[in-house]
Amino acid sequence: MSDAVATPAAPILVAIDGPAGSGKSSVSREAAKRLGFGILDTGAAYRALAWAALESGIDLDSEAAVLALLEGWRYEITLRGEQRVTVALPDAPAPTDVTSAIRDHTVSGQVSRVSKHRTVRELLNAMFRRIVAESGLPGVVIEGRDITTVVAPDAPVRILMTASPEVRAERRAGELPGLSHERVLADIVARDSKDALVVDFMNPAPGVTLVDTSELDFEQSVQAVVDVVQAAQSAAAEESM
Ligand code: C5P
Repeated sequence: MSDAVATPAAPILVAIDGPAGSGKSSVSREAAKRLGFGILDTGAAYRALAWAALESGIDLDSEAAVLALLEGWRYEITLRGEQRVTVALPDAPAPTDVTSAIRDHTVSGQVSRVSKHRTVRELLNAMFRRIVAESGLPGVVIEGRDITTVVAPDAPVRILMTASPEVRAERRAGELPGLSHERVLADIVARDSKDALVVDFMNPAPGVTLVDTSELDFEQSVQAVVDVVQAAQSAAAEESM
């Protein structure tokens, strides 16, 4: 009898990058559901880290301070159903559910200050790869800014989802009642330009499929992603025959 322990196959990865308001998060979530895959929103970890940094009163521009925080926190995110995010800080008596707090306007305005640190990114990337590898799921859609290029450059499906700044601002304004279209547009443009200093998420890297959702509604955008995944799966099946 063999002593070999059957290890579950690594999940199929669908890497999706794109700027704020491209439809990336909601479209990825629905596409994952239809494919029977999990979904990992990597922006949630950067947001949770910014939330934790603001909560702890540390200097978000200090990489050493953010790294110390990262060393002491416990971060958890669910990959199926509603994505719940919890953070346990060293001094807190219990983990905090930050699912809605991390979507707060204040966090959106500050998150680029923690995501700009190179070592912070390396540690979070290692955490993302670990979460996916340990998920036990048949596949995971993983979305963010540098997934197609840095986190999972070998993923069998890689997509860059874009939309014009006006369309993106319109979608975000719909999600943020009380803020004008102009204000949301200005915030999006400011955040994108800060984030773009760290990673290029506006131009598809070689081999990455561009999905422009400017003219697509939600359903069409989801279908576009599902089509790219299914085409890749058919091509892989044909190749292995
Ligand atoms: O995707 P979302 O808009 O929630 O991301 C929040 C922030 O997290 C981005 O503005 C960016 O600063 C950071 N981020 C990143 N790399 C990723 C995902 C998000 O730098 N892969």
